[in-house]
Amino acid sequence: MLPEFDNTEVAFQYRSDKELKHARFLFSSMSSPMLTSIGIKMTGLALSLHLPVKSIIKSTLFDHFCGGETMEDAAKTAAVISKYGVNTILDYGVEGKESEEDFDKAVPEFIKAIKYASANKNIPFISLKITGFAYFSLLDKIHAGYTLSKDEEAAWKRVYDRIDSICKAAAENQIMVLVDAEESWIQKPVDDLTDMMMERYNKSKAVVFNTFQLYRHDRLVFLKESYKTAQAKGYQLGAKLVRGAYMEKERARAIEKGYPSPIQPSKEATDKDYDEAALFCVQHLEGLSLFVGTHNEASCLKVAKAMLDNNIPVNTDKVFFSQLYGMSDNISFNLSHEGYHVAKYLPYGPVKDVIPYLMRRAQENTSVAGQTGRELSLIKKEIKRRGI
Ligand SMILES: Cc1cc2nc3c(=O)[nH]c(=O)nc-3n(C[C@H](O)[C@H](O)[C@H](O)COP(=O)(O)OP(=O)(O)OC[C@H]3O[C@@H](n4cnc5c(N)ncnc54)[C@H](O)[C@@H]3O)c2cc1C
Repeated sequence: MLPEFDNTEVAFQYRSDKELKHARFLFSSMSSPMLTSIGIKMTGLALSLHLPVKSIIKSTLFDHFCGGETMEDAAKTAAVISKYGVNTILDYGVEGKESEEDFDKAVPEFIKAIKYASANKNIPFISLKITGFAYFSLLDKIHAGYTLSKDEEAAWKRVYDRIDSICKAAAENQIMVLVDAEESWIQKPVDDLTDMMMERYNKSKAVVFNTFQLYRHDRLVFLKESYKTAQAKGYQLGAKLVRGAYMEKERARAIEKGYPSPIQPSKEATDKDYDEAALFCVQHLEGLSLFVGTHNEASCLKVAKAMLDNNIPVNTDKVFFSQLYGMSDNISFNLSHEGYHVAKYLPYGPVKDVIPYLMRRAQENTSVAGQTGRELSLIKKEIKRRGI
């Protein structure tokens, strides 16, 4: 039997009446593109003027999309959703740090999260961004194929060491690490570093996962090549599939710099490659683990159908579904209710440091026709069902 996603009682069982009404207010506000766009601009301005906007952001976007300011707060949120069988990916959501000192400071923070996760059955993953450990400009330079100076070589070695310490701790503590995909013009060193980590730590099972953005027209081929490489070198591939979060930025840069856009020509083309990539993974589970990162119901259904067609049990420990905390609970909680492995990305960190993440959530939730419309109608349906 295939899962269904419209049971709002299951979807929102972890949310109190008050939280649900708060969610209705938030998604109603975000459904106006103009209001959201003004909100994002005002937030940027207020922050640059050091105005006290933190408490407003905290009580609106932050409380809905984040687990808290500390790992301990996030763990409390994780414990709530785990009651309904939904696991957590701890995502130390701090972005935009650009100093060696910050990069070094992040390592123990991640190792602390790994150790914490290993003591909690409901936290099987942590996620990281390589830009949290490396200068963007250094990644850009390596990607473009420039020869590095001695100092840059040393800086790149330090990045390797930081990521290696985290992956080593994860392997020792049996926690999986998801390496996020970022802008295409820095992605090559991210892929290369992640491949090295997979080769080192994925000997018997996938500990480290690379991320494949299927909105790029070259990523389906890259996924298949990554699988072949893993087979040839004798390790398990960790394949996290997403569509991709930086479409406008990617297209704008390609136009500005005069190169062909790396992005698919249409949403349909992205969807087609996403579903084909997922099918490829389901058919090759002997050599890989699949992480389905999407809010797209049709894609989740296709994966469930492919699992059924290939006689893969719903609770296999080689397939994980994932949505972001505060979004698409109807998918997460209904899948988990049917026995699939599901984990929510749960960002945490000081409010000011997760603002870029929150602004991306606000932006992607603006279109009434898209995600927000769906979220809002489900929230309203549940409010009506509860009679509150
Ligand atoms: C658990 C999880 C982890 C994630 N990790 C990452 C990550 O590491 N890196 C990252 O970049 N993103 C990441 N994302 C975000 C993700 O890439 C998408 O931006 C987001 O999930 C929306 O895509 P969708 O599949 O959920 O839904 P859908 O609504 O079906 O798809 C929307 C997406 O389709 C693509 N798209 C839309 N219009 C067009 C068009 N005209 N032409 C071509 N493509 C189009 C874009 O990628 C857009 O984001 C993650 C998402 C989740 C749920």
